[in-house]
Amino acid sequence: MLKILKCKKCGDYTLKETCSCNGKAITPKPAKFSLEDKYASYRRKAKLDSLKGEGLL
Ligand SMILES: [Zn+2]
Repeated sequence: MLKILKCKKCGDYTLKETCSCNGKAITPKPAKFSLEDKYASYRRKAKLDSLKGEGLL
């Protein structure tokens, strides 16, 4: 699973530890992401179901 980091300098989200602006990216506070995680797992499940429906899994 990919870890999303947030740049301390410009506030952009990135997957690299160093942002494109050369700022340092850190792990955002988990609380801020709990809601998004719920949506992400729901989306994953929905995608899985649709793949099963198409006979791709
Ligand atoms: Zn940045």
